[in-house]
Amino acid sequence: MSEENLKIERIHKGTVIDHIDAGYALTILSLTGLDESPDLMTIGVNVLSKKHGKKDIIKIEGVFLNEIQMQKVSILSPNATISLIDNDDVIEKKKVSIPKVIEKLIVCVNKTCISNSENISGRKEPIDTEFLVLEEKPLKIQCVYCDRIYNLEEITFISKEKIEKRVKQRIQL
Ligand SMILES: [Zn+2]
Repeated sequence: MSEENLKIERIHKGTVIDHIDAGYALTILSLTGLDESPDLMTIGVNVLSKKHGKKDIIKIEGVFLNEIQMQKVSILSPNATISLIDNDDVIEKKKVSIPKVIEKLIVCVNKTCISNSENISGRKEPIDTEFLVLEEKPLKIQCVYCDRIYNLEEITFISKEKIEKRVKQRIQL
């Protein structure tokens, strides 16, 4: 599959995620929940790009990414670009960037970490996780509570259900 076959202009309205690190398109789709979208998607894996060797590209008709989804893309593929398309025009194009601190997106698997202490009596709400980004590529992040360091392969994202539960808790407060 060549880059020519995956022209951005082909999408009428929606999102194009380009310059994804080769091999990460399917991971991005599953971790952002986009794989459950009923909308038309075109996925190019290991597409040859003249400038950067191989890359992946995702086009999704009728969907604009939200902030959380964009942050996940930035963590998984720091060189990606996201284009929002409407009426066949690119209305916004941005290069993703990893925040200096990643909040509420990733689980610290250290059982003794205070971010896992939601069952301690008297605490109503779990502590939000927080990770410092030490290096962007290859990714290296550190839990601010227990100092444990993680690379990309070791990251576990907080499940969608848990995020929704927290959003509900905030609304109730
Ligand atoms: Zn921790």
